[in-house]
Amino acid sequence: MDFKYKVGDKVRILDGSNIANYTGGFLLEMKKQVGRVATVKEAFQFNGVRPAYRLSEICFTWDERGLFPADASPLVCNTEIFAPLRIVKNGVATIVFWQDGTKTVVKRGSDEAESDYAAFTAALGIKVFGSNSALKRIVSRTETQEKKRKKETLMYRCLCPYCHAEFNKGNSEIRIFPKDNSLRTNCPSCKSHLVLSLPDVEVEHDADR
Ligand SMILES: [Zn+2]
Repeated sequence: MDFKYKVGDKVRILDGSNIANYTGGFLLEMKKQVGRVATVKEAFQFNGVRPAYRLSEICFTWDERGLFPADASPLVCNTEIFAPLRIVKNGVATIVFWQDGTKTVVKRGSDEAESDYAAFTAALGIKVFGSNSALKRIVSRTETQEKKRKKETLMYRCLCPYCHAEFNKGNSEIRIFPKDNSLRTNCPSCKSHLVLSLPDVEVEHDADR
C-alpha cells in the first residue's frame, strides 16, 4: 500500500466532516483539532484496505484524505478536496461527484459547445461558492476591465503646401480635429502652421517606435 505520509512527516489536520466514509469516523473531538499541525507517528492499513495514520500529539485514527502537508498553503489543501471522485455525462448535463458525498449538476445551454473543461469548471465554481447564484454574484462583482490597448504610434506623412517639403510627424506632434477631420501641425522647414486634411495625409503604423 502506498502511503502519502511517512513517520515523522508534519501534517495539517483538515475538516473531515465533509469527507465521505472517513476512515474510523470523524468525531466531534477530532473537529476541534482542525488546522492543527501534528507529526505522523504511524502509517497503517485501516481494515486492511485504506491508508490511515496515528499522530504523535493527538490520538484518534486519521484518514489520509483529511491530512495535508503542513507546509502547503490552504489553497493547495483545497485543491485536493475539490478533486472529483467521478464525472458523469448525461446529454446536456454533467454531474460531478465530490469527495464529500455531494454532487453538482451543470447543464450546458443549447447554444454552448460541449466542453468537459467548461462543465467541470462551472461545477467547481458552484461547489466552491455554494450555489449557481452565489457564483454569479462573485462573477458580476468582479469588474471586468478590458486591458488597455497599447498606445499606437502613428506616423503621418505630410506635404507642406507652402514650401513643398515632405516630412513625417508622429501623433504626439500633431493635433487632429475630428470635427472636420483636419490635422494641425507646423512645417519643420518653413515653420508655417499647417491645416491639412486627413484623407490627404498618409498614415503609417510604426511598430518600431
Ligand atoms: Zn513648409
